[in-house]
Amino acid sequence: PPLYKQRHQFVIEFVKRFAPRKVLDVGCADCRLLTTLKVHRHGVELLAGVDIDCAAIQRRKHALAPLSSDYLVPGDRPLTIELYHGSVMEKEPCTKGFDLVTCIELIEHLDPGDVEKFSDGVFGYMVPHAVIISTPNAEFNPVLPGLTGFRHKDHKFEWTRAQFSTWALGICWKYGYSVEFTGVGEAQDRDVGFCSQIAVFQRDTELNAPVNNTYLVPQVYRLVCLYKVV
Ligand code: SAM
Repeated sequence: PPLYKQRHQFVIEFVKRFAPRKVLDVGCADCRLLTTLKVHRHGVELLAGVDIDCAAIQRRKHALAPLSSDYLVPGDRPLTIELYHGSVMEKEPCTKGFDLVTCIELIEHLDPGDVEKFSDGVFGYMVPHAVIISTPNAEFNPVLPGLTGFRHKDHKFEWTRAQFSTWALGICWKYGYSVEFTGVGEAQDRDVGFCSQIAVFQRDTELNAPVNNTYLVPQVYRLVCLYKVV
């Protein structure tokens, strides 16, 4: 399968294993990961997404709308889906209290000077139980045919494994998380690591700790759509 599907599959496997109830996808773009999560929800009750690009959210958001099949075969628990237009650089109270925050191929689009503010927002302000971050592994680039420079013109940086782990270990020290490194897309016969490197952060707290369930009206983000699925 294409690499983006492998990254999304990685998230699905994590959800299957740890059964988070509230999942937030930052940089959700056209909601493909959320759509896959809706199908393979494994007990998720709240699926939220935010992106700075509202048009991208609008493009395929209908795929998240309730289907007649949702009513014919209802899930164990109702599912709420919230899509927001906003930036992960802003502090938004609605983003607190999630069990899992996923951030797939986003950080490399930030200005390097903004990475610290991003880290503080996700780990210091949102304080989710678990965070999955994926980003290109620069050491893999020589394996990609015809590539010069970064993989995408909008990438502001691409980290080696050492750079990624230095950043990630700094997060653990500062915000009290532990981290495991993995990835998707392997090179044959070359020790360059994964094509997409992934860090899975977890806090030393109970997963699905009770949180206030009342719906919060966003203060900084704008709600693009809200779906209730039975
Ligand atoms: N996560 C998706 C996936 O797995 O396919 C899309 C990744 S796409 C390469 C990066 C996304 O991050 C874009 O949709 C972009 O608009 C979004 N993005 C970039 N900066 C952002 C920010 N500060 N806040 C929220 N989203 C942002």
